[in-house]
Amino acid sequence: MPKTAQIFQTPKGFHDILPQDQKYWERLRKVVRTLAAEYGFKRIDSPIAEDSGLFSKTLGLSSDIVEKQTFTFKTKGGDSLTLRPEGTAGVMRAYIEHGLSVMPQPLKLFYFGPMFRYEQPQSGRYRQFYQFGFEVIGESDPVIDAQLIKVFYNIYSELGIKGLTVQINSIGCKVCRPGYRSLLKDYYRNRVKKLCSDCRRRFKENPLRLLDCKDEKCQLFKSQAPHTVDHLCKECHDHFKSVLEFLDELELPYNLNPFLVRGLDYYTKTVFEIWPDSAQTQVAALGAGGRFDDFIEVLGGKSTPAMGAAGGVERTVNLMKVQEIKVPSAGIRPKIFLIQLGDRAKKKSLVLFEEFRKAGLAPAEAFSKQSIKAQLRIADKIGTQISLILGQKEVMDGNIILREMSSGVQEIIPLEKILNEVKKRLKK
Ligand SMILES: [Zn+2]
Ligand SMILES: [Zn+2]
Repeated sequence: MPKTAQIFQTPKGFHDILPQDQKYWERLRKVVRTLAAEYGFKRIDSPIAEDSGLFSKTLGLSSDIVEKQTFTFKTKGGDSLTLRPEGTAGVMRAYIEHGLSVMPQPLKLFYFGPMFRYEQPQSGRYRQFYQFGFEVIGESDPVIDAQLIKVFYNIYSELGIKGLTVQINSIGCKVCRPGYRSLLKDYYRNRVKKLCSDCRRRFKENPLRLLDCKDEKCQLFKSQAPHTVDHLCKECHDHFKSVLEFLDELELPYNLNPFLVRGLDYYTKTVFEIWPDSAQTQVAALGAGGRFDDFIEVLGGKSTPAMGAAGGVERTVNLMKVQEIKVPSAGIRPKIFLIQLGDRAKKKSLVLFEEFRKAGLAPAEAFSKQSIKAQLRIADKIGTQISLILGQKEVMDGNIILREMSSGVQEIIPLEKILNEVKKRLKK
C-alpha cells in the first residue's frame, strides 16, 4: 500500500454492526416481528429523510434548534430535508398523506430502522442509531394503552432481559394541563434561581420538563413539587385509572412515577418507560412511549387519538451482552459438506451445490481449497452430519462418495440418486 493512502474510519458517532453482533440484532428483529404479528401490527417503512418542517413542528423546536440537533441539509433543488430523528412523525405524516384513516381503526403499525441525531456521541449514544416502534392510531380507549405497554414489556422479557420495571404516569390533556402547569410554576417561582441553567430555561419555556431534570440540586426541589396525577380532569383521571386496572388484570408490575413527563404539548394522558434492573449501569430507558391524542391534528390531519412507543436497539443489544443472554447464531447450520478434488470435480460441484440449494439443503463448501484433508477438517469444524466427496474418478463414473461424519463410513452412490439418498439419511 502506498504510504500516502488514507485509512478511512466510520464518521464520528456512526458504527458498524459486525458479523459477530448480528445474532443479537437478528434475535431482536425476530422478537419484534413475531410480537407485531401476534398483536396485529402491520409493518410500515417511511423514508429516512423528511421535510425539515415536519420535525420542527412535531419536536416543538424552533427550526434553528432542529438544524443544530439533526442532520438537516438543502437539496440541490433548494428543499430543506432532515434525516429522521425519530419514527413517529414520519408514520403520522404517512397516515395523513395516504388517507389511512379509511382503513379499519384502530390502525396498528410498526417500524424498525435507523434514526439520526446530531449530538455529541457518548457511551451508548450514536448519531445513527436504530429504533423499533409500535403505533396504534384512531382509538382512545385505555385498553389500547395497557396492551401496548404489555407488548413492550413482552418484547424485553421474551429477549430474556432480567429485572424489568414499568414506570408509568399520566400527564393530562389540554383541558387539565394548563392548570397543573401554572401550579408547577407557582411552586418553582421562588426557587428558580437555585435551579440549573437548563431548568431556568425550562421554567420559562416548558415547565413540565423541570420534573425530569437529572441535575442533583434540581432533584431536591422536585420531590416536593405537585404531581400531575393529583390534578387531572375527570376524563384523564378515569382513563388513567382504567389503564392501571388493565395492567393489574394482566398482572404486569408497574411503578407510578410522578416525575415521568413528556415536554411536548401533543402528548396526552399515559406516559410510560421500561427500565432494566437498576443495578445495571443503564443511562436510559430501554423503551418509552405514551399517548399523543393531539399529534395528528398538529400535523394538519383531523383530530385522531393515538398511542405509541419506541425502543432503542443498540442499548438493548448492549444489555443482552451485559446480561450474557444466549442467542442462537444467525444464519443456517448446514448439515452437508461438499468436498471436491480436481478441476472437473470442482466444476461439477458448483452445479451440484445449486441442486442441493434449490432443494433447501444448501451444503457448506470450500471450493477454493484443493486438498481433501483441508476440506475434511473444515467439515469437522462445522460439524456437518454428511460429507459428499467428488473426485475425478467419481465424475467420470457418474458417482459420488457419501461419508457419514460420525462413523467415517463411506459409500459410493450414483450422482442422480444422491439428493434423495441425502434426504433419506437426514430424516433419520
Ligand atoms: Zn385532562
Ligand atoms: Zn435542572
